[in-house]
Amino acid sequence: METLKLADLLFPHITKTPEEFEAMYPPRSLPAGAKVTRLGPSPTGFIHLGNLYGAFADERLAHQSGGVFILRIEDTDNKREVEGAVETIISSLDYFGVHFDEGAVVEGDKGSYGPYRQRQRAEIYQTFAKLLIQRGQAYPCFCTEAELSEIHEAQAALKENFGYYGKWAKHRDLSLQEIRDRLDLGAPFVVRLRSQGDPARYFSIEDGIRGTLSMPENNQDVVLLKADGIPTYHFAHVIDDHLMRITHILRGEEWLSTLPFHVEIFKTLGWEHPVFCHTTVLMKMDDGAKRKLSKRKDPELGLDYYRGLGYHPAAVREYLLTVLNSNYEEWRLANPGADIEGFRFTTDKMGSSGALFDLDKLSDVSKDVLAAMTAEEVCDFLLGWARAYKPEASEVMDARRDDLLKILAIGRGGENPRKDLIYAAQIFEFIQFFFDEYFRMEDEYPDNVSPEDRKALLKDYLAGYDAGDDAQVWFDKVRQLAMDHGFAAKPKDYKKNPEAFKGHVGDVSAVLRVALSGRRNSPDLWEIQQIMGPDRVKARIQAGIQSTAQ
Ligand code: GLU
Repeated sequence: METLKLADLLFPHITKTPEEFEAMYPPRSLPAGAKVTRLGPSPTGFIHLGNLYGAFADERLAHQSGGVFILRIEDTDNKREVEGAVETIISSLDYFGVHFDEGAVVEGDKGSYGPYRQRQRAEIYQTFAKLLIQRGQAYPCFCTEAELSEIHEAQAALKENFGYYGKWAKHRDLSLQEIRDRLDLGAPFVVRLRSQGDPARYFSIEDGIRGTLSMPENNQDVVLLKADGIPTYHFAHVIDDHLMRITHILRGEEWLSTLPFHVEIFKTLGWEHPVFCHTTVLMKMDDGAKRKLSKRKDPELGLDYYRGLGYHPAAVREYLLTVLNSNYEEWRLANPGADIEGFRFTTDKMGSSGALFDLDKLSDVSKDVLAAMTAEEVCDFLLGWARAYKPEASEVMDARRDDLLKILAIGRGGENPRKDLIYAAQIFEFIQFFFDEYFRMEDEYPDNVSPEDRKALLKDYLAGYDAGDDAQVWFDKVRQLAMDHGFAAKPKDYKKNPEAFKGHVGDVSAVLRVALSGRRNSPDLWEIQQIMGPDRVKARIQAGIQSTAQ
């Protein structure tokens, strides 16, 4: 048969058979209903929120069903490859709690369905391309860029659909001799599918997220192998998803338009396709309009953004689940303290028309998540972040770990915990005044207290300060101090009779607060002094006195 000869001519080096690969990668023995999913990032070094969004869904589908979650590196486009990218992918996802069971690891592979880097699977793809050539279902195409442009121009002139198909597919029916002649001249070739589809016919397919889709059949003679023998995404993922025994393909909606190719390739190979689940794009509100998150405009698209600022992975996970599954928030309200694993994640509750990602909402979720943690947990997290992103500060905080714990315990627990901590960099900003190395005057003293009064207040406060005072005694003393200097002991006394006072006790506390913390807003003053200890309190008040001119 001509096609058998052609197959040997094109792939003399391919000696394995498809059956051998089928036997090497047998169907998995997993419990009924177990799902096998994969993440297929390109090693570009940029891991984005969309990857994480998909990865969570993949991970949940696999792990909640007793299945397997695989990392497959889709490196067929080597122009985009960046060194160390696999390590970045693994460590970024690991940080957010996404762990793979199988697949590419930093040095090599883990699992028996590998290799898991597509470039290392060239022999496998070529074996199946050879099979299709043998069966007459694929053919070599020698068209040059110039010839392809000519076809394109002719199609434009005739207002016909673009592409390599039907009568436009010039090399569909080259004879064996014509092919030989070209090969003898060393002409490069790609391998194309000999499509049998007709776009006038529609087929239906069940998408795990979108429900039943009705689409025109493919009629494009899609490129399966490029001139260097490396497959296109279309061919590679079909072969891999089949041989890795994937049950659910979760991928971005940008692949919907080429779904008819993929379905035809599966069909031509005689394989059942996995369940396709096309996720929606992540959008944001920008000037009142929804738009796609963009790599160029939105730093929050990159996962490094969250790690660098120190968003707790549990907060990011929690928030992304609310974006991923429409019934998650309801479940969370009913199960406030429950582990995420208790939630039953389903693809049919994933949105299909633009998921809105909102940083403010992430911050709100983050406040709740951090408020529910113990001071120790927040402390360990903060120190871990600082070691990586703010090493000098991590030494300062480490040296006073006990104080740090007390700082983070302020307002924690109880019915109504404080919710002012969002992410590590912000927490550090918020608490840095406790550390002399980072203390600075950020706010002005209240301007309704004259410098003379301020100085006198600080002097008297220092004279009467006793670190042993409990909160009540301390506050009574502040009231007394206010009265001694002509300030009302209570704001309402001042309101009733503003002429009689210079101000009220709140103004006096504001002076103390700025002297002690450098800010107009801080947690409870008595509490922060307990943590600072008498020496630091006295030194700061003293500094406040000195910095106030006569
Ligand atoms: N490498 C593809 C991408 O980055 C993966 C698509 C898929 O999961 O099939 O978009």
